[in-house]
Amino acid sequence: MKSLRYWFDSNNDTVYASADNTIDWFRIIPFIVLHLACLAVFWVGVSPVAVFTAAFLYFIRMFAITAFYHRYFAHKSFKTSRPVQFVFAAIGASSTQRGPIWWAAHHRQHHRHADTTSDPHSPQDGFLWSHMGWFLTKRFFQADYSLVKDWTRYPELRWLDRFDIAMPVVLALALFGFGEWLHWLKPEWQTNGWQMLVWGYFISTVVLLHATLLINSLAHKWGKRRYNTKDDSRNNFYLALLTLGEGWHNNHHYHASSARQGFYWWEIDISFYLLVFMKKLGLIWDMRTISADKRDHRAGI
Ligand SMILES: [Zn+2]
Ligand SMILES: [Zn+2]
Repeated sequence: MKSLRYWFDSNNDTVYASADNTIDWFRIIPFIVLHLACLAVFWVGVSPVAVFTAAFLYFIRMFAITAFYHRYFAHKSFKTSRPVQFVFAAIGASSTQRGPIWWAAHHRQHHRHADTTSDPHSPQDGFLWSHMGWFLTKRFFQADYSLVKDWTRYPELRWLDRFDIAMPVVLALALFGFGEWLHWLKPEWQTNGWQMLVWGYFISTVVLLHATLLINSLAHKWGKRRYNTKDDSRNNFYLALLTLGEGWHNNHHYHASSARQGFYWWEIDISFYLLVFMKKLGLIWDMRTISADKRDHRAGI
């Protein structure tokens, strides 16, 4: 694993005392089980309804992660009501990427120090480290909660963070029940509780997780740089498709407070389109985007 390096806090003046980059084997058992459980597909088989459910849950949870965990909780690029905030925080939490406060704290740290020694997950420290090494360590199990004081005042969000296993368990149980119910109601669809659990939770969640993590690893390595930002962020069409718009990562590092990450009409940004729809429904408001002037100004390239 990577060697110990100094860790500066958000003011860049004190060193974290517990800079322990060793893997926390006990705490990551669920992460390992999550992957191994996908192998159960050889026993439970496959059906169209199970694959459809997995794809649907990938889509809705990717939206919760990109539009809410990222664009709302980390960057405050729009406003919403407390119930909507909670609903999407809970859907995001079912993605098994820990709670919204922990997620936003590390992401704010990333933007402050992107691709420097204080970035939690820069590919400069190794591709595997930026993809999944960092969050398996003791050091990053905690977060710098001074960066997310705007969210720690909500008890329901603190609850989701503290019991970050709760929503994944709720989803897994619901999927098992759903599969058993379909088995009884529509036996010709050839599904059951175990099959629905494996496809809807385990496979869908593992694919969703690694697609999200590619933004920390690959989106700082592979793609085009439109803007001369201080970091190595890239714009990548394929990653944007996979993550509903997050692949326009160089755009995002250039103007992080924008709810829109595909700056031009040809830069597909599905999360943004859905946010526009939510705005029309009155569920969100005060959405921030980028001015045409700033967007078209490409000094240094
Ligand atoms: Zn980045
Ligand atoms: Zn960001």
